[in-house]
Amino acid sequence: MRTIILNSSQVHQGPLLLINSSHPLPESYSPSLVCLPCGSGVLMERHAASLLQACVQAAGGTRQIVPVSGYRSQAEQQSIWDESIASSGISFTEKYVALPGCSEHQTGLAIDLGHLSSHIDFIRPDFPDEGVCGVFRKLASRYGFIERYKEGKQNITGIAPEPWHFRYVGIPHARLIEEHSLALEEYSDFLSQRPWRYAQEGGRRAMIFYVHCTEDKTAVTIPDCCCQVSGDNQHGFIITLWEAE
Ligand SMILES: [Zn+2]
Repeated sequence: MRTIILNSSQVHQGPLLLINSSHPLPESYSPSLVCLPCGSGVLMERHAASLLQACVQAAGGTRQIVPVSGYRSQAEQQSIWDESIASSGISFTEKYVALPGCSEHQTGLAIDLGHLSSHIDFIRPDFPDEGVCGVFRKLASRYGFIERYKEGKQNITGIAPEPWHFRYVGIPHARLIEEHSLALEEYSDFLSQRPWRYAQEGGRRAMIFYVHCTEDKTAVTIPDCCCQVSGDNQHGFIITLWEAE
């Protein structure tokens, strides 16, 4: 066993950050970005980008699934917000566009996808349940992505259903969130009730649990194995232990 020390600042770091109107993007956040292929000019966080491409490929959607919007800077989110208010009004904008500083797109971990067509709506791209888009949707959690704003969760997320918006959280987390029909807003409470085990295809097993951040430094004793820590941007840490193969 070994003891790791978690600093309170780590609550605001990692791929499982909750970003919404009550939990803005931490000021210090700066993702490592890459450009997605297809000449789209769309940027995404490096690791999420490679899993997105793998999922699109597995779905057979390389030619038909188009990345519409990925990483956005604060200035870009502000101009999308302003333009949407000017063209579609405040109530539409509040439903479909996150407040600047409170958008998942600013993490580089979110992507809006569209089905290839002559006109793709930038705010609400068409990403149907049928065909390759439907196959992608079914496969997404195996590659670490969740459909972030689902039907029936609007009162929790504060955002209308967005079948085109996917968020990278990591494979075991996406599987758990999907299997238990959770919104990301519900995930920390779900984990704090009890630890969860997840067996990845291929046999690698993960144990996932939640630790509340109680003071400046929180000590956690864990087994000697590969350990990933992510803050939730709320009040603690999500810890993933990978058991040795
Ligand atoms: Zn989006």
